[in-house]
Amino acid sequence: MSSKTLGNTALTSFDVLIIGSGAGAGPVAYLCTKNGLKVLILEAGPNHFASLDDPQNQPVPEHANDELKYQVRSFIDVDTRMDPRAWRTAPSDGDRLSVGDVNGLPKHVGGGMVHADVKMPRFEQQDFMMGTLLGQKVQNANFADWPITYDDLEPYYAWAEVQLGIQGLKGANPFEPPRSTDYPMPPGIPMYLSTLMQTALATSGYTAFPYPTAVNSQPYDGRPACADCGYCSDYGCPTNAKGSTAVTLIRKALLSGNALLLAETRVTKLIMNGAKDTVTAVQCVDPNGNTVQYTASRYVLAASPIEDARLLLLSDLGGPGIGNSSNMVGRNLMFHLQTSCVGIFNDRLHGHRGRTVDHGFADFRGVAASYDPNDPSTALGGIVEISGSERPINEAEYYAEILRLQLKFDGGLFKKLMRQSPFRDRIVVLTMQAEDAPQATNLVDLDPAVVDFFGTPAPRITYSNNAYELAASDYRGKMMVDMTDGNGKGAIFKNAGARWAAVTPRDAIPASAHIMGTLRFGSDPTQSVCDATGKLHDIQNLYCSDGALFPTSSGYNPTMTICALSTWVGANMVFPGQPQMAIQ
Ligand SMILES: Cc1cc2nc3c(=O)[nH]c(=O)nc-3n(C[C@H](O)[C@H](O)[C@H](O)COP(=O)(O)OP(=O)(O)OC[C@H]3O[C@@H](n4cnc5c(N)ncnc54)[C@H](O)[C@@H]3O)c2cc1C
Ligand code: SF4
Repeated sequence: MSSKTLGNTALTSFDVLIIGSGAGAGPVAYLCTKNGLKVLILEAGPNHFASLDDPQNQPVPEHANDELKYQVRSFIDVDTRMDPRAWRTAPSDGDRLSVGDVNGLPKHVGGGMVHADVKMPRFEQQDFMMGTLLGQKVQNANFADWPITYDDLEPYYAWAEVQLGIQGLKGANPFEPPRSTDYPMPPGIPMYLSTLMQTALATSGYTAFPYPTAVNSQPYDGRPACADCGYCSDYGCPTNAKGSTAVTLIRKALLSGNALLLAETRVTKLIMNGAKDTVTAVQCVDPNGNTVQYTASRYVLAASPIEDARLLLLSDLGGPGIGNSSNMVGRNLMFHLQTSCVGIFNDRLHGHRGRTVDHGFADFRGVAASYDPNDPSTALGGIVEISGSERPINEAEYYAEILRLQLKFDGGLFKKLMRQSPFRDRIVVLTMQAEDAPQATNLVDLDPAVVDFFGTPAPRITYSNNAYELAASDYRGKMMVDMTDGNGKGAIFKNAGARWAAVTPRDAIPASAHIMGTLRFGSDPTQSVCDATGKLHDIQNLYCSDGALFPTSSGYNPTMTICALSTWVGANMVFPGQPQMAIQ
C-alpha cells in the first residue's frame, strides 16, 4: 500500500504551501525546495506510487495495462457521486442542465499527467499576443495578450523539458518557435500508421513531425525507456518511462528533504485575515475525515482551473470571492474544441501499439492570425494528433452497440467484426485542437444546491462555444475527411488510401481534458486576477501556477506551457526580479 504521507515528516513549519501535485505544482515545488524553502504539498487524491520518496529505489507504480481496472472499474477517475460538477450552456438553461462529470481530471498524486499520454509541444510566439492580433475582431470574445512573451518564457520551457524528459526533433515542425536548446532526447520509434500518414500528409502538402512527448525514448534520469506498450493515454505507466510530475519533479522535491506531501488531504477553504488581503491558513479535510488547518508564509493554487476558482469562491461564501476585485475570478474558462476524424483502412495498421500518439501536424494552426468572419479558413485551428485505437473491451462495446442499433444482435457477426477489427486495427484518428475563444460568459461559479460528499458547494460550469472555434472545426473537419478527387491539399484520408472517412459527433459536454483560464494573468488589475508573476493582484501571499493563468488557449496541447509557467512562477517566488537565477 503506497504511503499517504511522503517526504520529510519532521518538517513542522513551511515557507510555501502548494494545493495540488500535478503539472502546475511539480515545477514550483521543486524549484522552491531546491532553493532551500520548506514546502508543504496538499493533494486531495490518493498516492499510487510506492517508494515515491525513497532515494534508493525507483517508485513502484500501482499502474498496469489493464483495461478493466481503468475503463470499467474507474481506478483513477473521479467518482462524480462524491465529486459532482454541474453543467449548463447559459443562464437561460436555469440552474443547471446536468450534474456529473465536466472535463474532470483524475485526483491523485501527480494529477492528470499520470494517465495522459503527455504530448508536450510548446506554444507558438503568436499565441502570447492574440489580443494584439485578433483584438475585438471576434464577436463576444475576450482575446488578450499574455503579460509575458514567448521569449520571456523560453528558458523556463527549456528547463522544464530537461526535468520532465521530453523527446522530440528540433526543427521538424515548420511552425515551431525558436528554441535555445535541443530536445533532451530524440524521438522514439514511430507507429506504422504514423509513417503511412506522414507520407499521405506530404502528398497533401502538410508536414507531419514527431510529437514532443514526456516519454523516455532512451533510459533517462534513472527511468527506463518506453516499451511502447500501447496503453498510454488514459493509463498510468507501469514502468515510469512516462515523465509525469509525480515521478520527476514531485519526487525530486520530496528527495530534497525540504518537502512534505500529504495525500488524501483536500483543501476546502483559504482562511483570510480581516482585510482579506492575506491568507493566514488553509482548511482541509484529512484522510480520516477530520477538519484540520495548515499554515505557511506563501500559498500556491495548483489545483487546476476549475478547482482553483472554486476555492477562491468557497473562501468568501456570500461574497464576490477572494481576489475578485476585477470580477474576473472564474471567467474566461477555456477548453479546446476537438475535431476528431476517423478513417477506416483495408489493411491492418497496428495503431493500438505504440505511444497512442507519436506524430502530428500543425498546418491548421499556421502562423497567420488575420481573421475574416466570412472566411472560415482564417479561424485558427490547432495541432492535429495522429492516432489509432487501443482497447479491445471498448472495441467490443462499439460493435455490440452498432449491431443492436442496426439489426438485432448477431453473435456470429460480432465475432467476425472482432476478428476483422475495423475500429481497432484498421483505423486512423486525426484529432484537431482549436483556439478556444475566451469569453467572459464561460465561467465557473458555485452551484446553488449541488454539494460534494463533504457538503461543500460543487463547481458549476457555464460554457458554450464561440462561432470562431466552430468555424475552424467545421472547415478543417470537412477538409480532413474529403474523399473526393481534386481537393488538392484537403483529401488527407483519400491520399492515405482509406476506404471510408467521417467526422465524429462533437461531445455534448466538453471532454477535451484541456482546461484553461479562470484566473487570467495580466498587468491591469481591473482586467485580470493575477499579475505577470502569477501572484493574485489583491492578495499579498497567494499565487497561481497552473493553466488558470492562461489569458488565451492556443491550439497546442497545454501541459508543457503549464509546466513552463509553473517554473516561471516558482522562479519569481524564489528570486523576485531575477527569476533566471533559479534555473541556472
Ligand atoms: C486521457 C487524457 C490525456 C491527456 N493528454 C494530454 C496530452 O497529451 N498533452 C497535454 O498537454 N495534456 C493532456 N491532457 C491534459 C493534462 O492531463 C492536463 O493539462 C494536466 O494534467 C493539468 O495539470 P494541472 O496540474 O493543472 O491539473 P491536475 O493534473 O488536475 O492537477 C491538480 C491536482 O490538484 C488536486 N486538487 C484539486 N483540488 C484540490 C483541493 N481542493 N485540495 C487539494 N488538492 C486538490 C487534484 O487532485 C490534482 O491531483 C490529457 C488529459 C487526459 C484526461
Ligand atoms: S507507451 Fe511507454 S510511456 Fe506510455 S504507458 Fe506504455 S511504457 Fe509507459
